[in-house]
Amino acid sequence: MAPRTTISIDRLSATVTGDDTLAAYLGCSTRTLWHVAMKRHEMYEKFILTAMPGAARRVFVPNGLLRALQAKLRAKILTPLSRKLGPHVTAHRAGKSTLDAAALHLRACAVCDATTLPNTNPVKHDCPRRGVKFRLELKDFFLSTRRSWVCQYFHEVVGLNECVSRLLGQLLTTGFRDSRREKRNGVPQGALTSGEICNLVADCRLDGPLIEGMPEWRYTRHEDSLYFSHDAALPSVEVKKAIQSAKGFIKAAGYRVSWKQLQVHHWSRPQRLLGININRKLNIPANEYRQLHHVLYHAKKRGFEAQLKFTKTATVAALHAWIDGKLNYFGRVAPEKAAKLQRLYEAAKLGPEANVHATAPEASPGAGYAVDQRGGELYVICT
Ligand SMILES: [Zn+2]
Repeated sequence: MAPRTTISIDRLSATVTGDDTLAAYLGCSTRTLWHVAMKRHEMYEKFILTAMPGAARRVFVPNGLLRALQAKLRAKILTPLSRKLGPHVTAHRAGKSTLDAAALHLRACAVCDATTLPNTNPVKHDCPRRGVKFRLELKDFFLSTRRSWVCQYFHEVVGLNECVSRLLGQLLTTGFRDSRREKRNGVPQGALTSGEICNLVADCRLDGPLIEGMPEWRYTRHEDSLYFSHDAALPSVEVKKAIQSAKGFIKAAGYRVSWKQLQVHHWSRPQRLLGININRKLNIPANEYRQLHHVLYHAKKRGFEAQLKFTKTATVAALHAWIDGKLNYFGRVAPEKAAKLQRLYEAAKLGPEANVHATAPEASPGAGYAVDQRGGELYVICT
């Protein structure tokens, strides 16, 4: 019915030429658009999130009208533009996850594949899987994305005229005071549109120059987390040079590095990207596997209630939700290991009593064992 819904994002600049055509494209009135653009500061509920000590984040929660407009901006403009991003951007994209980022840093090695099979001997070789990797994090990624950058993106990259670009810049950002109490305009973390617009702006300002300027490094960015991997096990001096080079690109793009979060991963240590081990293949970090195995093993012996304190969960239902969440995630990273844990979980669900008796048939007296049950406890005595 409405031809505007079928407009291709490539033809956006030809269709949207002013505030009236933008409002029509989004399916709202021009008055509403300007009302939101002028009053958006008052339409956010602001609070500070202190989930991790020393990492307080300002979160902005939009009210109903602003939220509805953001949903339209996202569906009609930002999501179609995000589909054109390269594989190095993995956050805030449909069908992409941390697994895609991790998989991009894996290396194929025919020598390893052939010489680590059973009955073969390992061969010394220059293995691309032993390359060095490092991670950098950007400081205040969302609020650093200024209104002028958003306007510039829509004007220079998407090709919209200045009037529409400025209006979009206004709709997608909000005013705030920085650490020196100076008034600034940036993308608020918490808005529906924030992840996508920050990705689009950072792709042009930062990712493009980084990929071009450091071609020997594989690069991915998951929101504000930048990860670089190299084929060779470079010495520390070379890695430092690469970090300084990356810092130069980040600074030139206008972002800042959070040096506290810098991590350099050499091959002999766990190389971990976004909670996934990537030394040879995608894997669950050993400590996380051990923790869940420990919980399930003891739940099998003593019941789930006894595990509440260890997992810091309040109820058994919450513990089950925690286990289900972990198993689901592990299942996507390393299916075989997750299947092992799933079997243990199923056994634990039967309850401690069922698990005590489960060992009894093997220990039948006829098979050279005697079973002695005292005070509810089962003892197996070798005869
Ligand atoms: Zn190899």
